[in-house]
Amino acid sequence: MNNLFCNRDMLESIAQKYPTPFYLYDEAGIETTACQVMEAFSWDKNHRQFFAVKATPTPEILKILQRMGHGVVCSSAVELRVAKAAGFAPGEILFSPNFPNRQDIEMAAEMGVSVVLDGDYLTDDFAQYGLLKGTVGMRFNPGGEYYVNKNKVSAPGTTKFGFTRQQLLETGKKLKESGVSSFGLFGYMGGNIMETDYYKGLTRLLAETGRWVAEESGLELGYVNISGGVGIAYHPNETMPDVFAMASDVKAVMDEVFGAGERPAVYTELSRYVTGPHGLLVSRVIHEKSGYRQFVGLDASAHNLMRPMMYGAYHHISIVGKENEPCDHVYDVVGSVPEGIDRFAQNRPLPETHKGDLAVIHDCGAHGHSMGYNYGGKLRSAELLLTKDGSVRLIRRAETAEDYMATMV
Ligand SMILES: *Cc1c(COP(=O)(O)O)cnc(C)c1O
Repeated sequence: MNNLFCNRDMLESIAQKYPTPFYLYDEAGIETTACQVMEAFSWDKNHRQFFAVKATPTPEILKILQRMGHGVVCSSAVELRVAKAAGFAPGEILFSPNFPNRQDIEMAAEMGVSVVLDGDYLTDDFAQYGLLKGTVGMRFNPGGEYYVNKNKVSAPGTTKFGFTRQQLLETGKKLKESGVSSFGLFGYMGGNIMETDYYKGLTRLLAETGRWVAEESGLELGYVNISGGVGIAYHPNETMPDVFAMASDVKAVMDEVFGAGERPAVYTELSRYVTGPHGLLVSRVIHEKSGYRQFVGLDASAHNLMRPMMYGAYHHISIVGKENEPCDHVYDVVGSVPEGIDRFAQNRPLPETHKGDLAVIHDCGAHGHSMGYNYGGKLRSAELLLTKDGSVRLIRRAETAEDYMATMV
């Protein structure tokens, strides 16, 4: 749980100009974390970091990351357009789709970006569009269940992503025959992983598998892409993983597997880690209800933030101005979508809360606004940026009923 980066007076004055609910991002915080990621991996002169556009597809946020030296990774034609609108050059963009449609592939070809193959089912399509050039990425799925320090973190074998080990080699040989000279190996085992050794184990898996594919296929291993997946401290009892410690573990594994000379670059795609803690969903309490439970009704709903409803995820909630009061009341904090799952928190201890209070939901800076939807005639909120000079700027306006109606024939 990140500290509130603004106080009640500030939020009330912002709310006078931009009605709640709205997203508020902290430029200084994003810059700091984005910069730490680059510093942590600076031992690798070829390290590259690509932020996943799907986490926060807002050009003004992506531009902050670009200033810090990040590229972006996209999975669709629209995300590629967003990356372009934010000013990224083709060389700063990775296209890493799964089951993409024709328009997605055409846009990647038109922009001339680097690609990551999700399986051999894409090889011919990508070849036809001239996308198999430079260093071609391949996504590895080790199958089965994935453990870090004996804790199960995911079950990649049940997902739709990536190549099996044997398929990596078959496609590697095919790429080699078609004139490709180098490949990158990519792996993403799951999101919001809090095990501090996650990167260490994944680096070993990808480095050793990549070395084997290289030896057997004759391709050169250009990069090891350990992607994102690193979690953040959503709950006050959790601590933020330390990117410097993780990066030094990665270095140790790379040294051990490849020695100190010329070796594959390390790529990262940390996304939640970079922006997650630096975005708030700011809303107002508009109803109080008592029934089988005590309910606090916000003017934000599931359509503004899906994670609690989709994953049962914990997001910390502050009642602004009452941060130091005892949490001696217990509420369900809910929105207005007519579905039982529309609930930000269940049985949450909070200070006594009333209509008119501002409620802030923490750690919404990644996979927050971007997961929004329109079910129930709900409209996505505005996004605002608290800039380093302390001013507040609109970076995405709120949707209107006209936007919602615009596609109707
Ligand atoms: C979603 C996604 C990411 C982002 O990962 P985080 O868990 O937010 O760090 C990175 N790379 C790819 C290819 C993704 O699809």
